[in-house]
Amino acid sequence: MRHAPPVFEKILIANRGEIALRVIRAAREMGIRTVAVHSTADSDAMHVRMADEAICIGPPPGSESYLNIAAIIAACEISGAQAIHPGYGFLSENAGFARALQDHGITFIGPTAEHIRVMGDKITAKETMKQLGVPCVPGSDGGVADYPAAEQAAEAIGYPVIVKATAGGGGRGMKLAATAAELETAFRTARTEAKAAFGNDEVYIEKYLGKPRHIEVQVFGDGKGHAVHLGERDCSLQRRHQKVLEEAPGPVITPEMRAEIGKTCAEAVASINYAGAGTIEFLYEDGAFYFIEMNTRLQVEHPVTEAVFGVDLVREQIRVAAGLPLSFAQDDLRMNGHAIEVRINAERLPDFAPCPGRITQYHVPGGLGVRMDSALYDGYSVPPHYDSLIGKLIVHGRDREEAVARLNRAMGELIIDGIETTTPLFRALLQEPDIRNGAYDIHWLEHWLETGMG
Ligand code: ADP
Repeated sequence: MRHAPPVFEKILIANRGEIALRVIRAAREMGIRTVAVHSTADSDAMHVRMADEAICIGPPPGSESYLNIAAIIAACEISGAQAIHPGYGFLSENAGFARALQDHGITFIGPTAEHIRVMGDKITAKETMKQLGVPCVPGSDGGVADYPAAEQAAEAIGYPVIVKATAGGGGRGMKLAATAAELETAFRTARTEAKAAFGNDEVYIEKYLGKPRHIEVQVFGDGKGHAVHLGERDCSLQRRHQKVLEEAPGPVITPEMRAEIGKTCAEAVASINYAGAGTIEFLYEDGAFYFIEMNTRLQVEHPVTEAVFGVDLVREQIRVAAGLPLSFAQDDLRMNGHAIEVRINAERLPDFAPCPGRITQYHVPGGLGVRMDSALYDGYSVPPHYDSLIGKLIVHGRDREEAVARLNRAMGELIIDGIETTTPLFRALLQEPDIRNGAYDIHWLEHWLETGMG
């Protein structure tokens, strides 16, 4: 087989855990050498062992290591890496980081700093999407400066409404007002929370949707006016606005709906010359899509899309960052079967308390249509300093029923001993008729947990 010349000779991965491994794997298949960076708490981590080179960039806290821009740029310059993949979380949606790399002549594997900035502010993101013809949740025109303005906006939209922080993320700074009587408290608490969490107390108001599903569209742009979509993922199963299980395609999305919303999203990002992977998130209710936000990075749940389309999204990110065209056109992309991902966290049920510690036994499920993305190994100690996600189990089947059966089977093979994890949650969920039938909205899981896990 003839090998194309590598697009970069060496790239640095500014992340840790399973996503660092994910990027190393794509790079290795492309003949690109990899540099891992790590904190002192991660000297024994799998991404350090798996990369061609590793550089320690600071002490355990993320703020002093994986978020330390100066240390990461220094590591890049010392190692001679030409580009940096940020993974997800940490610096992946930090426009200042993307700009700093540009100033140092290092390629950021992701969109431009300007696109990150525009989409990182929820009001400018919504305004941009609206102008590009993407359907949005009815809401205030931009931020609401004071309580009278909030009252006026809420009256115009109609109750119930939700007050949201412009700088929001991770479900913080978001408050529901079911009636006019609740608006003042919702407005003031959302502002206080937003100020504390993001240092910015600007809020806006949206119509509150009662039983929506979370549907997100995967888009990919070449930065030169071409873009494609890779269908949707349904991520409605959430706890505290955090995704727990994701699937593709969405159980309630028809091929016609997919083609239409996908085309709208692809055209929107093409028209702004968007480069790389992006996700346009919607709430979906009664046949209508309502834009909520855009993520300008690779998502945790990208493997379900890879499974049904048979493409490597990280490889594509690296290619686009190197200035190559997309390796597929819209017509080349054919969806095949159904995929489901579950997020395995080092957490103790039923309260989901973080549960770091030493892994005494680790056994990965296998067989047809099973993928486990994890940086665990026998004897590894999960450090307490970072996100509790320790693995993602992804299954693929010819249809949803086969994928559910396969997930059930694979969960039965998975062994992670020494610490507690969220695997019992999925074993229980897979027995629920609503989950087996795909009949759930964004409130289903919270309700199920409150009523004692079924
Ligand atoms: P964040 O960036 O904090 O995650 P999002 O805008 O993506 O905030 O919203 C997170 C979640 O909050 C959504 O998946 C949904 O569960 C809920 N949500 C957001 N906006 C609305 C709305 N207008 N109506 C009902 N629920 C909403």
